Amino acid sequence: MSGHELRWNPLLGCWIIVAGHRKERPWHSTFCPFCPGGPETQGEWNVLALPNRYPALSLTPPGVDKGEKPFTRGEALGVCEVIVETPSHEGDFQNIPLEQVAEYILLLGERTRKIASNSAIEYVMPFKNKGVSIGVSLTHPHSQIYAFPFIPPRISREIASAIEYRKIYGGNIFEDIVRMELLESKRTVYINDGFVLLIPFYAMWPYEMHIYPSSDVKLLYELDKDSASLLADAIRVATGVYEELFGSEYAYMMIFHQAPVKRVNEEYRLHVEFYTPHLSRDRLKYAAGVEWGAWVFTYDGVPEDRARELREAATRIIGKLDSLGRIP
Ligand code: UDP
Ligand code: ZN
Ligand code: FE
Repeated sequence: MSGHELRWNPLLGCWIIVAGHRKERPWHSTFCPFCPGGPETQGEWNVLALPNRYPALSLTPPGVDKGEKPFTRGEALGVCEVIVETPSHEGDFQNIPLEQVAEYILLLGERTRKIASNSAIEYVMPFKNKGVSIGVSLTHPHSQIYAFPFIPPRISREIASAIEYRKIYGGNIFEDIVRMELLESKRTVYINDGFVLLIPFYAMWPYEMHIYPSSDVKLLYELDKDSASLLADAIRVATGVYEELFGSEYAYMMIFHQAPVKRVNEEYRLHVEFYTPHLSRDRLKYAAGVEWGAWVFTYDGVPEDRARELREAATRIIGKLDSLGRIP
């Protein structure tokens, strides 16, 4: 038994990553491996990609016995990287100059392209976990990249819906979402020349926000310097709004959804999703019985009311941030 493998859940039809060695990773240690001058962080840099030292997926995974139905296994094949967002040990995107956040976006694109050149990789997902309340083990501002040998269920579902939507309505689902959000203008929080930040009509988390593009960009490496700046700008507003609403101890997850790298879907659009557990400064919502047991989310409140709060917070901070866009 390797203790490092994929296991197939035949009931839900999805893979689980079993990673016994991940138990060993540092938990709130006092030494910061991401501050400049450490063994892996020498030299001059603004943003840095490092291999994850405790990778859940690896390009050289142990071999596995495929097993027998219903208990099938797969190799834990893939890539896990850490992206150190800034040399500074504190802060978040709103505290990093715009050009450097744009560099971060461009680096995510470069890493996507590089990782995708491996024949085993089907999907590359950059993401960030921030905040002690959602279990982050290291506080230095950092993101991660997980690259999978399969298309993750959430992405397959979005693609299937986009294809189905085209069949039924003859349009692109992402373009229609953006068009309707701008038309209704009830849930939009911030807009610039390339992206719109909003709380979606179908928000699951109280202060969930998504960033959708106004172009047909599908993958991070399609972004040029200018569009990377525009995406960086929208991200700085999003995280700045969370800090403004929830104070210094805020928590969120940020996920980059891009097209699968080997079978780029025409309908797909690059977008960013922010989930935060905050109901308020010091009250958290837990995904609990209904959410986990049924995959049905109850939304405590009304997204349109929360949008007003988010927009007001954005109004207060965009001056300080020297933002490129405006409140819709
Ligand atoms: N890590 C690393 N090098 C180190 C210490 C930690 O690559 O010297 C990795 C660790 O495996 C973990 C990540 O950095 O995946 C820290 O991530 P975070 O706290 O966001 O979440 P986690 O992955 O621990 O849930
Ligand atoms: Zn640090
Ligand atoms: Fe998505």
